[in-house]
Amino acid sequence: MILLDGKKTSADLKLEIAASVKKIKEEGKKTPHLAAILVGTDGASMTYVNAKVKACELVGFNSTLVDLPEETSEETLLKEIENLNNNDDIDGFIVQLPLPKHIDEQKVLMAVNPDKDVDGFHPTNVGRMTLDLPSFLPATPFGILELLERYKVETSGKHVVVIGRSHIVGRPMSILMSQKRKAGNATVTVAHSRTKNLKEFTLQADIIIAALGIPEFLTGDMVKEGVTIIDVGITRVEDVTKKRGYRLAGDVHFESVSPKSAYITPVPGGVGPMTIAMLMKNTLIACELKS
Ligand code: NAD
Repeated sequence: MILLDGKKTSADLKLEIAASVKKIKEEGKKTPHLAAILVGTDGASMTYVNAKVKACELVGFNSTLVDLPEETSEETLLKEIENLNNNDDIDGFIVQLPLPKHIDEQKVLMAVNPDKDVDGFHPTNVGRMTLDLPSFLPATPFGILELLERYKVETSGKHVVVIGRSHIVGRPMSILMSQKRKAGNATVTVAHSRTKNLKEFTLQADIIIAALGIPEFLTGDMVKEGVTIIDVGITRVEDVTKKRGYRLAGDVHFESVSPKSAYITPVPGGVGPMTIAMLMKNTLIACELKS
């Protein structure tokens, strides 16, 4: 069993990005600048945004955090987005999800200039991705592709089962894996909450990408020998033995699945750190495209 080490791979990637930024600065070009909008005080969202700001510092980007209270109106948020769209110094920005219930998420994502949409959530980028055109790829699927490529996991002609059809992970992942690309050319099955007899599919899978958000859902009896496992899930599970009162659990029952796996991502330290590194990569691309 080989661990797909997202912590190490993302650290390597950030070093590569930092080297590019150093070169950009030496050439007197503009420093990449990422902004993040955070609405409210959701614990996980605050952790993610802080990690993104820290990653910016590490690679040498400028960063701006637009921190808005929970009661911010949709109109005010749309104005903030417009400001970032019109600010020439900002190369890319993200609106941290989820948003408070009174705000229409779709409307907000549509307001982001696609050229600055480093999360790759705007319909223009989703459409371009689907049509094999250059686009910002959503960071989590992009990170999974990067991990598969760097570990030289063979995907061509393999059967990939994606569990989950969300717009940010499952759906784009299923599209990307079926495309003619390095980590691609796979035969893809997309499973979701209405799928019947899921085990019949997972037992046939060469690669399983679990993105459903149910802790330790995929167990050893559901996978075949030699499978590759990508565990996207991150759920806080109560754990009184931990100082913070919880532990992070993936969607895969690591103890029973890992002995049967050729490759597997751990949680934490697998897909999570890759997501942030790919956001940095997208920001660098956005900055380079502008100059
Ligand atoms: P989501 O809640 O939007 O979607 C979950 C999907 O799972 C749905 O499409 C649903 O149909 C499917 N599903 C639910 N129950 C199922 C079942 N019993 N069998 C088969 N399919 C089922 O979730 P999401 O936003 O895609 O996130 C999924 C998980 O990944 C969450 O734990 C989330 O925290 C995590 N996540 C991690 C990263 C990262 O960077 N590592 C990024 C995004 C999401």
